Amino acid sequence: MSRNSPKTKEKAMNQIESLIGLAEGHRERELSRRYVEISRRIAKRMDLTIPSYLKRRFCKSCNTPYSYGSGIRLKNGLVTVKCSSCGNIRRLPYRTNR
Ligand SMILES: [Zn+2]
Repeated sequence: MSRNSPKTKEKAMNQIESLIGLAEGHRERELSRRYVEISRRIAKRMDLTIPSYLKRRFCKSCNTPYSYGSGIRLKNGLVTVKCSSCGNIRRLPYRTNR
């Protein structure tokens, strides 16, 4: 029996989702960064991939949620997000529902 049963993974995924939610709602930047850090650690340990809709909500390089007044721009079908904390720029494809 593997400890990474589908049920355990589902639980971990819920945890990850709520941790990122907490991070976004938190006023203390340091603490919200910790929440993201913890959720990424859970994902790693459980061998889970954080889904893209969650991944695009925080900075990959410093774990700060983008809810901290980051510069979001739409350009040529790409969303450009600049992290307000470390200045890391990320480009994400912007998808519309056809
Ligand atoms: Zn950053």
